[in-house]
Amino acid sequence: MARDERGVTPQSEDFSAWYNELVFQAELVDRGPVRGTMVIRPYGYRIWELLQADLDRRIKETGHVNAYFPLLIPESYLQREAEHIEGFAPELAVVTHAGGKELEEPLVVRPTSETVIGEMMAKWISSHRDLPLLLNQWANVVRWEMRPRMFLRTTEFLWQEGHTAHADEADAMRETLLALDVYARVCTDIAAIPVITGEKTPGERFPGARRTYTLEAMMRDGRALQAGTSHYMGTNFARAFNIQYAADSGELELCHTTSWGMTTRMIGGVIMTHGDDKGLILPPLLAPYQVVIVPIGRGEQAGQVLPPARELAARLHEAGIRTHVDDRPQLSPGFKFNDWEMRGIPVRLELGPRDLAAGSALMSTRLGEGKTPVPLDSAPARLQSELAEFQSLLLRRATEFRDSHTRTVDSWPEFAEAVQTGWARAFHCGTLPCEDDIKAATSATPRVIPTGGPAEEGRCVRCDLPSAYGKRLIFSRAY
Ligand SMILES: [Zn+2]
Repeated sequence: MARDERGVTPQSEDFSAWYNELVFQAELVDRGPVRGTMVIRPYGYRIWELLQADLDRRIKETGHVNAYFPLLIPESYLQREAEHIEGFAPELAVVTHAGGKELEEPLVVRPTSETVIGEMMAKWISSHRDLPLLLNQWANVVRWEMRPRMFLRTTEFLWQEGHTAHADEADAMRETLLALDVYARVCTDIAAIPVITGEKTPGERFPGARRTYTLEAMMRDGRALQAGTSHYMGTNFARAFNIQYAADSGELELCHTTSWGMTTRMIGGVIMTHGDDKGLILPPLLAPYQVVIVPIGRGEQAGQVLPPARELAARLHEAGIRTHVDDRPQLSPGFKFNDWEMRGIPVRLELGPRDLAAGSALMSTRLGEGKTPVPLDSAPARLQSELAEFQSLLLRRATEFRDSHTRTVDSWPEFAEAVQTGWARAFHCGTLPCEDDIKAATSATPRVIPTGGPAEEGRCVRCDLPSAYGKRLIFSRAY
């Protein structure tokens, strides 16, 4: 197979090789020296910053405030909630020595912060007037990873974790669903990733949660990716950490808490939702550069073209368009075209002496065919509308892909076939052994009990017991 120096294995040939090559070739990440860790390079980090800025704004708009809690947590804190420690124990990194001697109590590098935040909530909440307490933290966490995969499963990753405390179940449940809604908007409006929202089955719950909600997105190999989760903890953590408030009656009541998180794995989601054989395709709202200008010509000609290219870039910048001029002198335009195509730039502009003379630039989009002349005078307005159109095209394309790879099935053979290439909508009996049996046979797991949708009754696609959820579940192999 002929391949450019910087090319990647086509997605259609080997999805996994495509992904693993692309994250490095596109300069999103590098490997950290410790197995399973990743260095997020500037091009990848910019994507995260853009996502983070949007999500942070929405978190604040819904009444939450940011705080920061310590990285190191006493091991005894994690042990106070039995399910929580049982779920996280295999992934914990523990500090046993510090300051040149063995510590009296080992310290856990946070895998998540329910416990340390719970301890502080207990201190800060005394009456119902202190509720709801709506906190968010931007942080890194460590979960030891045996099968690392860049962005998707790394030993250390970045995220935000929302932690809230409420007077009663109804208010905490409203909060759990509000966070889910914020995530859904970030996915669809910014990342152009369509998601199905709903609840997890008991077998897929967060350790210590009473109810776990999720957003599931379909990647271009048909697998599901969990784009975020939101948990209602009931009073489990309030009981473990004495998070109590004095009710109007004067009685002490336990708070109801929630937690919710979205992580750097979203970048993996963007790569696998939109990318194609040639490489990345970035939604304009998350693209480090939305437009790249490639000056055409060598030697004297290049000197002639570069100043107008920079001037055009400045005008696009002024119009709020992230623009980059690729002025690397030693590289041919052809190499640059391939490079930016692989790195997913939504729109490319070519500017050569002939274009300049005609007062235009040649525009091509990452998914379009051919090149269109764009008058330089009206370029900012034209590119704004091209970028907006490209953003909606990606969401439409991903939605069509998902819908055409989702099958409603009622028999086991249909189910087994459907989850080879996409999602199956099927009835399930709700028992854990049956979930395990399905997983052993097909690698598929119940991803989500979708919110909304028609109420339907039927029989379990695997064991024929009556359906437990009053509707069909989405099953899929997953990341
Ligand atoms: Zn069953």
